[in-house]
Amino acid sequence: MSEKAAIVTATDLTKIFLVGAGVRAVDGISMRIYPGEFVLLTGPSGCGKSTLLNLLGGLDRPTFGEVMLQDQRYSDLNENSLARMRRTKVGFVFQFFNLLPDLTAKENVELPMRLIGLDVREAQRRCQDLLESVGLSDRMDHYPHELSGGEQQRVAVARALANEPEVVLADEPTGNLDTHSSAEVMDLFRRLNEESGQTFVVVSHDDAARNYASRIVYMRDGAIEREEV
Ligand code: ADP
Ligand code: MG
Repeated sequence: MSEKAAIVTATDLTKIFLVGAGVRAVDGISMRIYPGEFVLLTGPSGCGKSTLLNLLGGLDRPTFGEVMLQDQRYSDLNENSLARMRRTKVGFVFQFFNLLPDLTAKENVELPMRLIGLDVREAQRRCQDLLESVGLSDRMDHYPHELSGGEQQRVAVARALANEPEVVLADEPTGNLDTHSSAEVMDLFRRLNEESGQTFVVVSHDDAARNYASRIVYMRDGAIEREEV
């Protein structure tokens, strides 16, 4: 594994939130994520998992340290270039799905492709394939409120994959789902990981998630406590 080039490289990452005396949410983390890995990031509430994930995906800027996606250093990018990088190379999945309520499933999945100017027909074709692969071909024209939580999350996964990202980052993707839907979403991640070699970094404190990971990273107090392969 170590001779392969990393997809994501974090070096001495620190994030301090300037609230009260200051919160060191991430405290000097260095890590590498390799192509095809399925990394589970776990640890107690408040240990810095979401903050780390947001830094790895370029949703937030570190106070100190560096993140690179392949050979692109985030600190070399202005906000526009960073946004473009996120749109094309990173797929995000959130606990509360974050679908746009006024768009149908299909329109939600097409949106990221429209934003990068993909040909409309190509976007529609890809959208159909994606919704089919998450088992929702018969729900394309449904609005989020017409879908169950598990279905909404599968739409969100299809949307995350729309622009064929290098890496998919998911923050408590099953945190709002029942056991059955949670297993469906995790199974879907595993299938995508195995079939397309897509790289996943999943934050979860759900014990069931451990069965899916190729590596488990335990965090505590903003730092990596230990890892299990
Ligand atoms: P986790 O996802 O592991 O529960 P977080 O990364 O959300 O942890 O939070 C880590 C620490 O940083 C917590 O103490 C939290 O209160 C604090 N924190 C997170 N986001 C902010 C923010 N935007 N402003 C101030 N403090 C924050
Ligand atoms: Mg969190």
